[in-house]
This record gives sequence, C-alpha cells and structure tokens, in this order.
Amino acid sequence: MTEVAANPAEGARDDFPTFGNFIGGEWRPAESGRTFESRNPADTRDVIGRFAASDAADVAAAIRAAEEALPGWRSTPAPKRGEIMYAFGALLAEHKERLARAMTREMGKVLAEARGDVQEGVDIAYLMAGEGRRMFGDTTPSELPNKWAMSIRQPIGIAGIITPWNFPIAIPCWKMSAALITGNVVVLKPASDTPHCAALLVELMHEAGFPQGTVNVVTGSGEEVGMPIVESPDVNVISFTGNGATGREIYVRGARRLKRLSLELGGKNAIAVMADADLDLAVEGILWSAFGTTGQRCTACSRVVVDETVADALVGRLVDRAARLRLGPGVESTTDVGPLINSEALKKVATYVEVGTEEGARLATGGEPTSDLAALEHGHFYSPTILDGVRPMDRVAQEEIFGPVLSVIRVHGYEEAAMVVNGTRYGLSSSIYTTDTNTAFRAMNDFATGIVYVNAGTIGAETHLPFGGMKGTGNGHREAGHAALDTFTEWKSIYVDYSGRLQRAQIDNQ
Ligand code: NAP
Repeated sequence: MTEVAANPAEGARDDFPTFGNFIGGEWRPAESGRTFESRNPADTRDVIGRFAASDAADVAAAIRAAEEALPGWRSTPAPKRGEIMYAFGALLAEHKERLARAMTREMGKVLAEARGDVQEGVDIAYLMAGEGRRMFGDTTPSELPNKWAMSIRQPIGIAGIITPWNFPIAIPCWKMSAALITGNVVVLKPASDTPHCAALLVELMHEAGFPQGTVNVVTGSGEEVGMPIVESPDVNVISFTGNGATGREIYVRGARRLKRLSLELGGKNAIAVMADADLDLAVEGILWSAFGTTGQRCTACSRVVVDETVADALVGRLVDRAARLRLGPGVESTTDVGPLINSEALKKVATYVEVGTEEGARLATGGEPTSDLAALEHGHFYSPTILDGVRPMDRVAQEEIFGPVLSVIRVHGYEEAAMVVNGTRYGLSSSIYTTDTNTAFRAMNDFATGIVYVNAGTIGAETHLPFGGMKGTGNGHREAGHAALDTFTEWKSIYVDYSGRLQRAQIDNQ
C-alpha cells in the first residue's frame, strides 16, 4: 500500500481515477483526506487509481450507516432480499469481462482465472438468492400435547467482512451474499492490494438495488481500518480470510468482545501420488494446482507426496512441463503464469527457495526472479519452481509460501503418504491420485482437510458445498453452501402452546 499525501478532491489526476469509501449509498473521501495507490503487479508503472486511506473515523461512519439500514433490511422478507441478490448475480454475469480485466490488471492472475473468480461471485449470488426462499429451520414434534415447536434463523446484525487480494471478487461475494441474504448489513474492508475490484463490486451491488447503508466499503490498512471494525462493539460478527498471524490477532481481539468470528486462514496443501496413479493425469493436476494463480491460492498445492517407485518419473515430467510455462502479464493470451502480488511476496518466495536449498533440497527447476527479462522487468515475476528431496519437517514443507514453489517429498506407500499429508498445522485441501478404489476411500476418510479430492488437483471448489479448513486453517466455520448461513445467523427456538392451559415442559411429562 503506497500512501499518497494528497487530498483526493484536489489530488485527482486526469489519467487515473480517485475512489472514496462507499458509505450510506454514497462515495466519500476519507475524513483525513489521505489516499493510497493501487498498481498493476505485472507493470508497476501502471497506476490503477487512488483510494481512500481511511481510519477509525471512516469506520465509525460506515457503522452508523449500517446501523441505520439494519432495521429495514432485516425486516425485508428474505425472498425479496433474494430478488435483489439475484439481480446482483445477473449484473456480475453481465459485467464479467470488464471485472475480470480489472482484476487481472490489479492483482495479476491470468484472464481465464479472473473470469472464473467473477463466476464464483455469480454462482454464490444465485445460490444465496435461492436461500432467500429456503433458509430452512426445523419444525419438530413437541414433547407436550397441543404445542408447536420450531426453530428459525435470525440475522446477527452488522457483519464486518475483511478480505484478501487473491480472490478479490469471489471472496467478498461469498461472505457478503451469505451475510446479506440472512438479513445482516455489511461493512467490507477489502485488501489494500485490490481496492479497485471492491469499488467495482459495490457499484454493481448498488445498481442491483441493495438499499443504502446495507453494504458499505471502507478502504485502507489492516491496522487503521480492519482493526477498528474488529474492535467495534457495534459490529456483531466478523468474517475474515487472510493469513494465520492476522487471523489469530483478530480472533483474540474479537473474543474479548464475545464476537462471532469466522476465520479462513492459510494452507499447506498436499497431493499424494500413489504407485498405481495415472501419472499423466497427476502431472496435469499438480501443475494446475501448484502454479495456477502463481501459487497464490489458499488451496494451491505446495507439497507433492509421491511414492518412491514413481517419484523419478513424476518429477521428470513435472520439471519438463513447469520449465515450459510462460510467464507474463495475465492479460496476454500466451501467459500461463502471471506475477506475484507485490515486491514483499517476491522477496518472501525467493527467501523460501534459498531456505529450501540450504535445508538440503535439490532445485529441480526455477528458483529465480525473472526481473532480468526485459519485458517483465517492471513486474513481480518469479519462475515456477520445484524443490525435490524435501523432508516432511523442512520449513518449505511446513510453512505457507504463497507463491509458485512446489516441494516434492518422497515416501514409501500409502501409510507414510497419509502421515505426511496430515503432518502440518494446516488442513484446507488435499488430493490423492490412485487407481485403487480402496486407497481412494481410505484417503477420503484419513486426510485431515476440509476438502479432499480424488484424481483431481487441490483447487476448484464449487459454491454449493461447504468450503473451509480443519486445524490451523480456521476456527471451524465454513463458507459457501448452506453451511455459510451458520456464520451469519442466530438460531431461535419458538414454542407455541395452544392447549389453553399451563403445561410445564420437563415436568408434566415425567
Ligand atoms: P492478510 O495479510 O492477512 O490480509 C487479509 C486482510 O486482512 C486484508 O484486508 C488486510 O488488509 C487485513 N488485515 C491485515 N492486518 C490486519 C489487522 N491487524 N487487523 C485487521 N485486518 C487486517 O492476508 P493476505 O496476504 O491478503 O492473503 C493471503 C492469505 O490468505 C494466505 O495465507 C492465504 O492462504 C489466505 N487465504 C485463505 C483462504 C481460505 O479460504 N482459507 C482463501 C484465500 C486466502 P491490508 O490488505 O490492508 O493489509
């Protein structure tokens, strides 16, 4: 986040736009007047725009707007809320190409993947629109005669949504659509690397008909905007996706106020390749999972756990294919792998590759920033990298790198593979390649991750199933599917006694 000390009203230049916060249905500059720039990671000379560098005063204004909107929105019938949600999904679909291009420019992923990111927003909007007509509770027999028993979901109130840059449309959509359909109102703080995507998103939400104040967006740093949202006594539920260290800090601070908190954190996802695997299929799945989105997916494969008997054959093919992946700006159709998000990410990846080789791994391919290539010199590019001979407890096999670096760990048989797959503090996604049905079913049961794939890569979740991780990847909540409704609703149990006399539950029927 590069801060610019200009007043946005005066500082706007002709060649790139200035955006404020979206509060109470209107755009407003930060109260301090400060701004920051968002730049294209494939060419940092390309400034996308200036955005409000907000602080607690702007957060307070957004929360006030949300408070005002809450009574009207929570009393709007859920099917009506669903109609607005559906209109939003349709607008996202209509503007998919424009949003995808803006996303590629702002965070670097190749266009096809950016379109997929927007499509996830469309999918969740349609799914949640349908929830407006479902949102099932239970009706259940009472233990007493002439008595009705049922449960309903109710909104929690104001939802603080804090999101990362790697899925700048999909993740805000996943969270906001579940929050809104259930009758909550939202204050969104998007990542400082992707404020433009958030601005485009909220414009469409406004156009779809979400009433003013139901969706508010405040841009700025984690400390100055994210933390005031977490600390506010008026924000009742926090949904956060990001790295583990930030998530833990948010958990601790939110817990002091007994907030509902949903955390989706890092991963160290593994693909196990058994001796009987279809290696051609495995190579495709591994390459896509490890180097798609430049390895910057929470579900990206960063460990291949391969049976020693097929390890040389697998590594040979992976290296051959990885070395031929073409780096470049995501907007170009010839590009397979786009840039990393920023210079810190580039540094982090390079450092981890050094750590890996110092720990004894063999650099099988890659291992260098590519800024020396003239065409890429202004972007944060790093070659797809494979480290072979990594040991299960090495740092590169344990810590999230979040870049195009794949560690190959060699094992003997399924038992050892399962132990290694499960041998990290994370538990988001895993996969097994095998042609043996029994082994596949054992893995489905044994792998300690929220998502398990069989004969497919570790990425590619579908929005009607729950999404999230076990162990250090989160705190047990799930996004997407109807599981997402649990984050944003309170259960209320309702009893109606129509017997016309006093019936004492737990006493009369003893
Ligand atoms: P991050 O640094 O934790 O940032 C995530 C969000 O939190 C950003 O909006 C950030 O704001 C904000 N933030 C930072 N410090 C904060 C603080 N002290 N208080 C409140 N908010 C704060 O994570 P990231 O680097 O953007 O994202 C990558 C991480 O997300 C990876 O670990 C990845 O695995 C994880 N991820 C997980 C999932 C999942 O579903 N499990 C999905 C996608 C990504 P600024 O941008 O202003 O710093």
